[in-house]
Amino acid sequence: MSGIDAVIKNLQHPPAGGYQDFGFCEEEKTDNQTVLHAFHNLLRSMPRPTTPQEVLQAFKEGNQRFVDGNLQRREFVKEIQETCNEQHPFAIVLSCIDSRVPVETVFDMRIGELFSTRLAGNVVNEDVLGGMEFATNFSDAQCVLVMGHTKCGAVKGAVADVEYGNLTALVKKIKPAVEQAKSSDTEGLEPGSDAFTDLVGKINVEKAVEYIRENSPELRKKEESGEIVICGAMYDISNGKVTFFDN
Ligand SMILES: [Zn+2]
Repeated sequence: MSGIDAVIKNLQHPPAGGYQDFGFCEEEKTDNQTVLHAFHNLLRSMPRPTTPQEVLQAFKEGNQRFVDGNLQRREFVKEIQETCNEQHPFAIVLSCIDSRVPVETVFDMRIGELFSTRLAGNVVNEDVLGGMEFATNFSDAQCVLVMGHTKCGAVKGAVADVEYGNLTALVKKIKPAVEQAKSSDTEGLEPGSDAFTDLVGKINVEKAVEYIRENSPELRKKEESGEIVICGAMYDISNGKVTFFDN
């Protein structure tokens, strides 16, 4: 076994005494490229999440790496080669079109790991449900994640009753969340304030999750049987952190 292989083996199966003795020679220790390559090999050998809960955990760990500035999955050329003949994404995400919320990046996911649906205000309709049903029944997705974000322009548009072309119909889908926010105990939040926008954004996600369960018996049954999990989340554009609504 080479020194680098020993590093990988140790990281995969931590020794009782910790990682002090990686067992590679002085030359290898000073060769950063070699060590980096070993870690990339380790990442590729990361076990794929096999349960819905493990998928959620993979989302959380990936977002933590993103927040920490520690992205590890950036080998696009290799990822293209590895996925050119087949894909096995383990989740489908519905999120907003906002340029500040690049989904794969904020979860440190590789090419081929996520189905991604993006619509302004992460609104849900029957076409979106169709994609989710495809992802979970005809492909490998075990998690349906609806992710809103703070300071969402589409949500602000719904609060302000914006009317413009087809946007009118889109923001109308967010209005029930606006009404619920207004009727809830908002502790004096001003409609138009960022705090009110974010409350509506959160309710909008919760309503999307409800909509999915109510309007797709296929997805609801899969969730009830434990085959998949349907979860909401909010991305904070000020710090990159995703808060999951899973408990
Ligand atoms: Zn948005």
